[in-house]
Amino acid sequence: MEILLKKLKDIIPEDRFSADPAITIAHTRDSSFTLTGISSTNFVVVQPESVEEVQSVVRLANDMNVKVVVEGIGSNLVGLTIPRFDEYILLDLKRMTELKIDKDLQVAMIGPGVSHGLLAREAAKHGLKYIGPLAPYSASVIGNIAFTSMKPGATRYGQDQVLGLEVVLPTGDLLHTGTWSLSYLREHAPFYRHIPLLDLTPLFLFTRGTLGIITKAAIRLYPQQERNEILTVGFDDMKRLNEFARRIQYFYIPSTLLAISGSYIPKLLRVPDVKDESVDVEVPEHLLIAEIEGPRDQVEANLRIVNSLIEAYGGSVVTSISKKEIEKMLSPSLYSPRMLQPFGAMLPSICYAAIDKTPYYVQEVRMILKENFDIKTEYVIYYQYLGLNTYIEIDIHYDPTKTDKRKLIAVLKLLSDLKRRYGCVSTSNEEFARTGIYYEIGLGLKKMLDPKGILNPHRLFRDI
Ligand SMILES: Cc1cc2nc3c(=O)[nH]c(=O)nc-3n(C[C@H](O)[C@H](O)[C@H](O)COP(=O)(O)OP(=O)(O)OC[C@H]3O[C@@H](n4cnc5c(N)ncnc54)[C@H](O)[C@@H]3O)c2cc1C
Repeated sequence: MEILLKKLKDIIPEDRFSADPAITIAHTRDSSFTLTGISSTNFVVVQPESVEEVQSVVRLANDMNVKVVVEGIGSNLVGLTIPRFDEYILLDLKRMTELKIDKDLQVAMIGPGVSHGLLAREAAKHGLKYIGPLAPYSASVIGNIAFTSMKPGATRYGQDQVLGLEVVLPTGDLLHTGTWSLSYLREHAPFYRHIPLLDLTPLFLFTRGTLGIITKAAIRLYPQQERNEILTVGFDDMKRLNEFARRIQYFYIPSTLLAISGSYIPKLLRVPDVKDESVDVEVPEHLLIAEIEGPRDQVEANLRIVNSLIEAYGGSVVTSISKKEIEKMLSPSLYSPRMLQPFGAMLPSICYAAIDKTPYYVQEVRMILKENFDIKTEYVIYYQYLGLNTYIEIDIHYDPTKTDKRKLIAVLKLLSDLKRRYGCVSTSNEEFARTGIYYEIGLGLKKMLDPKGILNPHRLFRDI
């Protein structure tokens, strides 16, 4: 550590790195409750301000064979940014907040310190809109690209809004993807990912910063629409809700579409008042929230179609919750109600399913957890890709001072069996490691790009 600190002095100003436990302790937790305090404070936090500084730190780490953990704002819930005991550099990218918008092309070029909230606000100033996830307002856009997807629920826009990346590879070399890979187009906003034939962008999406550090990303923006409506529809029967959701997606109607357990709404919206689960709003058992936007006449026509389908599928329009309140739950929300975790802690169980299996999986999980463990769950289903698949999150809210952790571990085990049975695929490292040659190819890439295995070890690859 002493040598490391001495060498860092040559490449980063002293006020931008520290091994003081009073500073490092702030980086020993993420957004989960359970993982707080599992690491030591014996590491150095480095805050680069430029791509050159990131390269220098990574080169130093290679020279000294020191492991590097990359952090956006650390809002993941699975311990990805918490340094483990032999990981000595925590690269905190919050200071890299460059943000440029090409209004004509509708593209934002951002650094890793730019948050969902900041990008949405800046885009709005140009009459544009950013399609982001339902994640915390302050979490970073690039952290999200590296960690999961862009926007579950944005069925019409799709998940992936990335047009190009600038990446510091684990050796310190710099890579550009899309049209940025051609040096004469580097000053221009990227417009096509397949220009150099082989699209390397996806190597850095969803791979938890194990293959490189993203120092700049180009994100597609969209024009704000003339009219925007939010429709909340209640159903008693989840299968009917799902069929309805599928149908309106086939007509390309909703831009955002998500389902949520009715009992979740009072918990999310009335958090400061929640004492127990009996809250005053009458909400149907299952809710579907659809954002319908476009030119005025088109929205009008779509609402007419949707209203006739609501009747045909046995749903009812919910008026007891205002549009303003529903908006708090949509992206990007300053309020981020799901961050509040009203009962102290939240254990989310996540997987991706084919749309036809979705209601069966959700219903069975909820029933089994209630009957076997006396646990009441809430769910959120984000529809993706116009009726093809869903992202399912079953949330267990619990009081960490009263809950037996062994019970939660038993629940997780049971959930992983159920996921298999319904083909609901989790994005865990264990699942990835089961994919045989697929995993081997990934591992080969990791070894090629990161021969010393210094970057975000074991965050994706079991072996390195
Ligand atoms: C209540 C709650 C709700 C959430 N809902 C959603 C949701 O709906 N959809 C969703 O997708 N996410 C969701 N998240 C997860 C998370 O908040 C977002 O994905 C967020 O944008 C991640 O950004 P971050 O800066 O916090 O990333 P971090 O937690 O800092 O990092 C996440 C991972 O990416 C890596 N990483 C970060 N920055 C870089 C970089 N520049 N280059 C390479 N690797 C990097 C880190 O090493 C880590 O492995 C939610 C989180 C909470 C707490």
